[in-house]
Amino acid sequence: MKRLSIKMRVTLWYTLLMLLLSALVLGFMVFISEHIAQSDAQEALVQGVDANMEEVEYEDGELDIEGDFIYLKNGVSTLVYSQDHQLMGGYLPAGFASDEPFVDGTVRGVQSDGGQFYVYDRLVTFKKHDGVWLRGIVQADGSTGIMGTVLKAAFVLLPFIVLLASLVGYQIARNSFRPVERITRAANAISEGSDLSRRIGLGEGKDELYGLAAAFDHMFSRLEASFEEEKRFTADVSHELRTPTAVILSQCEYALAHASTQEEYRAALEAVNRQAFRMSRLISRLLAFTRLEQGVEKAEFEETDVSELMTMICEEQKSIAGKGIALWQEIEPGLHAAVDRTLITRLLDNLIANAYQYGKEKGNVWVGLRRDNDMLRITVKDDGIGIPAEHLDKIWNRFYQADPARIADEKGSAGLGLAITKQIAKLHGGDATVESTPGEGSLFIITFPIKKRGA
Ligand code: ADP
Repeated sequence: MKRLSIKMRVTLWYTLLMLLLSALVLGFMVFISEHIAQSDAQEALVQGVDANMEEVEYEDGELDIEGDFIYLKNGVSTLVYSQDHQLMGGYLPAGFASDEPFVDGTVRGVQSDGGQFYVYDRLVTFKKHDGVWLRGIVQADGSTGIMGTVLKAAFVLLPFIVLLASLVGYQIARNSFRPVERITRAANAISEGSDLSRRIGLGEGKDELYGLAAAFDHMFSRLEASFEEEKRFTADVSHELRTPTAVILSQCEYALAHASTQEEYRAALEAVNRQAFRMSRLISRLLAFTRLEQGVEKAEFEETDVSELMTMICEEQKSIAGKGIALWQEIEPGLHAAVDRTLITRLLDNLIANAYQYGKEKGNVWVGLRRDNDMLRITVKDDGIGIPAEHLDKIWNRFYQADPARIADEKGSAGLGLAITKQIAKLHGGDATVESTPGEGSLFIITFPIKKRGA
C-alpha cells in the first residue's frame, strides 16, 4: 500500500467505501423486499384458501366444488384433499412433496425439492359427511414484483456504479493533487538547474495546498534573496580588497625594479604600509560585521550605567578629534540599561569617528543621551557636510559610501561602520535612523529599550 501514490490510495479507499455502502444498502433492500414478499405471499395464501372454503359443499350426497373455486391465483395453488388425505382436485406445484402432513390453520414454511414453499391447510367440515382438506401452496422465492425487479437491476448496475464512482474519485483525487505535482516540478527544477528565480506560482486559492505552495514560494524568495546577498557580499569583499592588493603589488614591483635610493624605498614601503593598514582594518571590520550578522558574536547584556559609559567614550574621543572639531556632551546622568558594553562602545566610536570625518574644520559634534519613556535615545549630531537625500536609506547597507571620492584613504573606510552600527542597535532590540541636510550636518539617532529583549 505504501508504494502506491496518495492518489491511488485515496481512490482505493474511496472505492472500497463505495462498495461497502452499496453492499449495505443492497443487503438492506434484499432483507426488506424478502420480508415484504413473504408477508405478501402468506397473505395471498391465507386469503386464497379461506375464499375457496366457501366454495366447497355437499349437494345431493356429492361433493360439489363450485365454479368460483380458484385453483391457481397470485401464485397460490389450492388443492382439495379428502379427509384421509387423498388428492381430489387441483395441481400440485412441481417440486413440492406430496406427502407433506396436514396441519389445520397455520401457515408454515416447507423446504422441498422444488425450493421453499409456504403451506396452509384448512379442514372443511360438514354435518353429515366427511370433511375435506384444502391445501394452499405458494412458492416462497423471496422478492417478487417491483421490488424484485429493482433488486435485480441494482445487482446488475452495482459493478458499473462502483466503477464509475472510482473513476470519478480518481479524477477528483488527480485534480486535487495536481498542485503537489507542480510543487514537486518547481522544487526539482530549482535544485537541478539552480534557477532560484523559479516559483510554483499557484496563485490565489483557499485550500491547504495553495497555502503550502505560497509558503514554498516565500521560502524560495528568501533563499534567492540570501543567495543574492551572499553573491553580492563576496563580490563586494573581493572588490574592496582588490585595490589595496593591486597597490601593494605594484609598489613592490616598482621598488624592486626601479628604486635605488633609500628615499624611494621608503616611499614605496610607506605606500605598502598604508594599503596594508587599510586591508587589515577592512578585514577586522568585515569579521566583526559577519560575526554580528551571523550571530556568532553573542551580545553579553549587563546592567550598565550608560551615562557613565558614554561620558568615558566621549572623553577618549575628544583626545583624537581632528580638524579642530569640538565635542559637546548632552548626557543625562544616571541612565541605566542592560547593554553589551563592548558593542555600545563600538557603536559610539563609529558614529563619532564619522562625525569627525565628515565634519567641517573647527566644527562641532554633539553627543546626547536621554530617556524617552522605556527607551534610551543616543544621538550624535554634527554640523558637517551632511548626506544627500537619495543616499539616506542606503548608507546603512554594507560597503555603501555616499561619495567615495570624499573619503581620505588613511581612515581605511569601507562603508561598513554604519552597517555594524545598525546591527548593534538591532541586537539591543532597537533601531538606528538618520536625519540630514547637505551642507548643514547630520543627526544619527539610536533608540533601544532599557530592558533588554526577552528580559
Ligand atoms: P565609511 O567607512 O565609509 O565611513 P560608514 O558605514 O560609516 O562607512 O558610512 C557610510 C557612508 O555614510 C559614508 O561613506 C558617508 O558617505 C556617509 N556618512 C556617514 N556618517 C556621515 C556623517 N556624519 N556625515 C555625512 N556623511 C556620513
